[in-house]
Amino acid sequence: NRAAQRLFKTDKSCIGKHILSVNRSSEISKLLSDSEKGKRTEKVIDIAGGKYQLNSGPVISDSKVSGTVLLALDVTDKENAERIRKEFTANVSHELKTPLHTIAGSAELLSNGVVKAEDLPYFYSRIQSEAQRMINLVEDIIRLSHLDEGVGNIKREETDLYVLAKETIKTLSEEAYKAGVSIAISGETAVINGIPQMLESIVYNLCDNAVKYNRPGGSVSVTIENKKECVVLTVSDTGIGIPTECRERIFERFYRVDKSRSKEMGGTGLGLSIVKHAARLHNASIELQSIVDKGTEISVTFPKDES
Ligand code: ADP
Repeated sequence: NRAAQRLFKTDKSCIGKHILSVNRSSEISKLLSDSEKGKRTEKVIDIAGGKYQLNSGPVISDSKVSGTVLLALDVTDKENAERIRKEFTANVSHELKTPLHTIAGSAELLSNGVVKAEDLPYFYSRIQSEAQRMINLVEDIIRLSHLDEGVGNIKREETDLYVLAKETIKTLSEEAYKAGVSIAISGETAVINGIPQMLESIVYNLCDNAVKYNRPGGSVSVTIENKKECVVLTVSDTGIGIPTECRERIFERFYRVDKSRSKEMGGTGLGLSIVKHAARLHNASIELQSIVDKGTEISVTFPKDES
């Protein structure tokens, strides 16, 4: 029929003809031969770059198989979501296992009394930093799963992005001081109808990265622009920059340009995926500009009228 013709991406001349004249794949042949034997079968196969679930069953008249009904369902999105979910679970398990091994190993050495007195501080601080890494990871995962569940029923509030950003930056001042990075905000009052916790996550993660991937003596500047139809948050830094080929991927879960640097800085690889998700909830668009060894600038544009 016409729907099958579109699905199998063939021309109209196939309508009304036998399915094998359109697709001779071994999977379809097997479904048909099973059906001729009176069997019902279900299989997911690739057709023209998508995933389709094919259900086949015999048509029986006068106790004989007189034909086959083949029902094809597009399950591409479902299969993709399933694959992403599996990958995420595998990644989370791996990310949690590594610090746990370090903690368990260090604790074992300490309890066996084989660590020299002068090495004790090293082991204590490793246990502490690895435990902190696990806490960061679990907190980010909880944040992401709230976003995945959908926060449609969370109340939006009139929020001044300038005030919120100023408060959020304060929580980063100690980290910035330790890294030798200065952080400043400029701009104007700009009220948007948004979800304060999500807006805070956006500002926090962008500024945290701008400090983490910077260098001593570097700077971070945060700007809030209140335009006629939108409010723009811009975070720019004088840090290490992001290579062109990685720019698309840094918003993926667990993707890091330099895994060891991210881990050393207490990164989880989830910050920018939280930013992307939270921005989407506000219909906001993200723009990134970066020059390796010079710095990065990320802007988030919030439309005032989301409709
Ligand atoms: P992480 O917890 O590793 O910082 P993110 O999702 O926040 O995870 O960022 C993903 C990766 O993108 C980082 O590991 C880093 O390689 C890169 N990155 C993000 N922000 C910046 C920045 N401002 N400057 C340079 N690299 C950045």
